[in-house]
Amino acid sequence: MVITLRPDATPDQRRAIESRLREAGFQIVLSPNGSAVTMAAVGEGSLPPLDEVRAMPGVATAIRIPEPFKLASRTFRQETSVIKIGDVAIGGKDVVLMAGPCTIESEEQMVKTAAAVRAAGARVMRGGAFKPRTSPYSFQGLGEEGLKLMRRVADAHGLLVISEIMDKSQIALMDRYVDIFQVGARNMQNYALLRELGQVERPVLVKRGLAATVDEWLMSAEYVMSGGNDRVIVCERGVRAYETYTRNTLDLNAVAVAKAISHLPVIVDPSHAAGVRDKVVPLARAAIATGADGLLVEVHHDPERAICDGPQSLFPQQFEALAAQIRLIAEAVGRSL
Ligand code: PEP
Ligand code: MN
Repeated sequence: MVITLRPDATPDQRRAIESRLREAGFQIVLSPNGSAVTMAAVGEGSLPPLDEVRAMPGVATAIRIPEPFKLASRTFRQETSVIKIGDVAIGGKDVVLMAGPCTIESEEQMVKTAAAVRAAGARVMRGGAFKPRTSPYSFQGLGEEGLKLMRRVADAHGLLVISEIMDKSQIALMDRYVDIFQVGARNMQNYALLRELGQVERPVLVKRGLAATVDEWLMSAEYVMSGGNDRVIVCERGVRAYETYTRNTLDLNAVAVAKAISHLPVIVDPSHAAGVRDKVVPLARAAIATGADGLLVEVHHDPERAICDGPQSLFPQQFEALAAQIRLIAEAVGRSL
């Protein structure tokens, strides 16, 4: 249930409303930044009848949230959430480009790639230090050494840092180096991890699982939010389908749906969706046209020699050309880059 208080509601009236809802077994969450005070009652209790709540002194409106995800729903919050990190705002008018290699490999790779993506207009650098590889024999990432390297290079180029976290035991370490925690597709349902990320200050980007419905995906965001961290971004990265020309199938339906039913910023990763370099660019263009708030793109200074995901990594010049096109498309849909 979402309850909006009257502007003249007194603190006593507010306390009475909150205690009635707590008594019914609910947790009270205040809306992050509405002009009027809005509170959501979330939990498994049985809600007092709407009419009873509406009749309480100080209440302006009370409505049920029909979605299973409460805090992530647009019913709870009508305006899109804008997540600010330094001078970067994710979910605002500007679309945000996040780009970099699949995995952090070397100083040369990071410096060349960072310079190229920054010059093209990216604001966030991506790079994995802990990699969820399908084979246990594949390169697993440079760990802390990689994070240190990415932090240093990103700072030197005025970029923020996003990197994937695979386990809750990595939170304290990664918190020292990243600006955004990325939860990968394979970990979308790692509820222990999501719960712990509800306790961190930093934003969390939750990728959609390989075969997750939109509701399941948004419920994963809800896990983080219900723990107290409302700075959540969701990311569509393609779902498993029967097609074999591409690695996955980019589900732009899900982008349009998530934008409609949730206030969270939606980012698209066209790289893992396509799996092949020449399909990344058209998918990225379509994502912005669909209303995505930004892109997470794999770019490598020398993709043919990349340790991981080379075939889907863009050459720097391709990323630059893509950014120029994104600028035009963003403008056509009332955004900017
Ligand atoms: C990645 O972004 O490096 C990654 C592994 O992506 P996903 O979790 O979407 O497969
Ligand atoms: Mn990758």
